[in-house]
Amino acid sequence: MTQFVPVTSCHDCGLLQQISHMPEDGAVKCCRCDATLRKRQRVEPAKSIEHTLALVITALVLLVISNVYPIIQVDAEGHEMAATLFGCVKYLFNNEMELLAGLVFLTTIGAPLIQLSGLLYILLPVNFNWIPPFAPQLYRLVRIITSWSMLEVLMLGILVSIVKLSALSTVVPSIALWTFALLMILIAAILSDLDTEMLWEQISPKIKPIDVQNIKQGIQLTNCHNCNLLCSVSAGHETCCPRCNAVVHLRKPNSLTRCTALVIAAAVLYIPANLLPVMVVTSLGKTEGDTIISGVIYLAKTGDMPLAIILFIASICVPTIKLIILTLLLMTVHFKSQWRPIERTRLYRLTEFIGRWSMVDIFVDTLMAALIQIQGLMVIEVGIGAVAFGAVVVLTMLAAMAFDPRLIWDNMEKVNE
Ligand SMILES: [Zn+2]
Ligand SMILES: [Zn+2]
Repeated sequence: MTQFVPVTSCHDCGLLQQISHMPEDGAVKCCRCDATLRKRQRVEPAKSIEHTLALVITALVLLVISNVYPIIQVDAEGHEMAATLFGCVKYLFNNEMELLAGLVFLTTIGAPLIQLSGLLYILLPVNFNWIPPFAPQLYRLVRIITSWSMLEVLMLGILVSIVKLSALSTVVPSIALWTFALLMILIAAILSDLDTEMLWEQISPKIKPIDVQNIKQGIQLTNCHNCNLLCSVSAGHETCCPRCNAVVHLRKPNSLTRCTALVIAAAVLYIPANLLPVMVVTSLGKTEGDTIISGVIYLAKTGDMPLAIILFIASICVPTIKLIILTLLLMTVHFKSQWRPIERTRLYRLTEFIGRWSMVDIFVDTLMAALIQIQGLMVIEVGIGAVAFGAVVVLTMLAAMAFDPRLIWDNMEKVNE
């Protein structure tokens, strides 16, 4: 009888390695590129489902409250105004910014709603030892949509808006602000406490682990990008993951071409995103447009230095750094560079981590515009630059997703052969 060897392929460098033991606390790291391969959960496995289910139900209730009640109320010159998150989306939609409305809806309402209701659909029956239909397919969708849920960025956007609005009016934080803060913490807890490997094992039919010691010639092993199961793929072909049904490739198809096209598109749109106004303020008959940089300079001049620094980092540094890193990665892979593979892989992980934070500016502009609509006194509108900027954020996120970091290591392997 062959002995079962727990083997995994690193998602960042592709190296096959054996996980001999799980450390008591902490994580198993890749011995070549330092990526996290497995993480020990804070909650013991036997209680993971029940514990996460309680968090999911609470989070769903908070999500409903957060969307029913206003986030902030302002009182300017005797005019009282309040904005709900859905009101912000509606404002964008009514002002012919359907794409931006769709983006704000997806990242703040749609993605958390699909994520939480999907988990409820799976975890509630699993808790009573019953597997609901289509559970693996739905869990796969939940894992994909999670990267588009940006409640922590929205929270920062709300805080920045409060400081900016307090210069114009009296700001009263409303109930949804507190429920959003709680919701953000709960979703972070759900992501860190749920034992994904254990849940996959419970919801998918029993799958025989691959006998890695008896692999046929021409067959290579790689992990499924979605559920992390070790799958066998014949070189040059693709296969379907037996557990979640996602397509498994040895390398993401046309990774360099797709990533290059997305980076070029983002770089082109980055010009109007910075030159066109992201916010248009009409006050006492005078209309002024604020670009991203003029907004930051204005904040710095009026003494809001911490806020100016936050917006400068999120809206100017992050997209620029992302475009530079992605260009560097594409060039070094294209020219088969041997230069510092570990550092380049770390840079790749950085782009994946920081990308979403640029959405802060979009959330701030939307909230301010949805709130300050005092006809004849002051009207704030979202400028066309915000649409271009939103497109830059989405395109750079898609570019980072399209890039396959294992390509960095392929060049190293070819030289060592
Ligand atoms: Zn690795
Ligand atoms: Zn899978």
